[in-house]
Amino acid sequence: MDKVLTKPHLSFEVFPPSASVPNEKIYQTVQSLGDLQPEFISVTCNNKKLNFNDSTLKIASYVENELQLPGVVHLTARYFDKNQIDYILAELKRLGINNILALRGDLVPGKEPKNDFKYASDLIEYIKQKDSNFKIFGACYPEGHPESPDKVTDIRRLQTKVAAGCDCLITQMFFSNETFYQFQEDCALANINVPILAGIMPIVNRSQALHVIQSSASYLPKKFVTMLDRYKTNPAALKAAGLAYAINQIVDLVTQNVDGIHLYTMNHPDVARHIYQETQTLFAM
Ligand code: FAD
Repeated sequence: MDKVLTKPHLSFEVFPPSASVPNEKIYQTVQSLGDLQPEFISVTCNNKKLNFNDSTLKIASYVENELQLPGVVHLTARYFDKNQIDYILAELKRLGINNILALRGDLVPGKEPKNDFKYASDLIEYIKQKDSNFKIFGACYPEGHPESPDKVTDIRRLQTKVAAGCDCLITQMFFSNETFYQFQEDCALANINVPILAGIMPIVNRSQALHVIQSSASYLPKKFVTMLDRYKTNPAALKAAGLAYAINQIVDLVTQNVDGIHLYTMNHPDVARHIYQETQTLFAM
């Protein structure tokens, strides 16, 4: 389903649940998210399992065909070969899914990659050559991708990705809006002119906060670290403060005319609903 991109717009990310979570749960989650009428819902792809057809594709199809909202599949390059990608593209066409977030994907230690696509830009070019009607999203990193030697190199590689056929970019999560504004400026100077959606991750519990601290290459502003520290033994206060932090980020970004907000929902529709309710008047303007 195509929707005209209105600016600014709100979109959501969900991930296929682990085997221990009942299957219906994810459909209830996307149904609740769909009630908020986002611009699209994107569904991640897990390189460890690579059960794309049974997870990512099915959920995105539900979004597209049952909820009548645009579904975006995350499609990773490194562990698929051309034949598999051809099959997936045909399936996407059959299911009426027109939107792909094309990624290299997380590398899985000990898992041998395929050789057809090394970088996201290789996959993007391939898809666009096959069928230019697919709308292609790409990932970007306001603080630079962790494997890049420096930010200038990272921006140059982003230029290549956009030139390969990327229609829109979605950022990695960030907790300092200043970092994002600097990145926007760097992109403008490099003639990267596609819309850039700001990826916002609301922190709502301690384990998630710890995961972000341990695994994230993101700069964590002092007020963010203080918040996590102060409420580390008070889950309700941490959730309230984490939501307020994300809402403040969004209010500032929308005020500064961001192209869109992409919310990493972590499959928590209540969190998305709360943020939506607190910010919807901004999006309507
Ligand atoms: P690329 O754009 O290919 O970049 C990867 C690295 O290679 C970078 O360091 C880049 O600078 C470098 N590079 C790029 N082109 C070249 C070149 N021509 N020569 C040399 N070096 C080059 N991962 C998943 O596994 N599943 C998901 O569903 C998923 N969803 C994501 C959604 C978003 C919005 C974001 C921001 C990330 C997501 N990721 C996901 C994580 C992502 O796969 C990893 O960050 C991965 O390490 C890089 O993917 P990419 O598409 O940005 O790669």
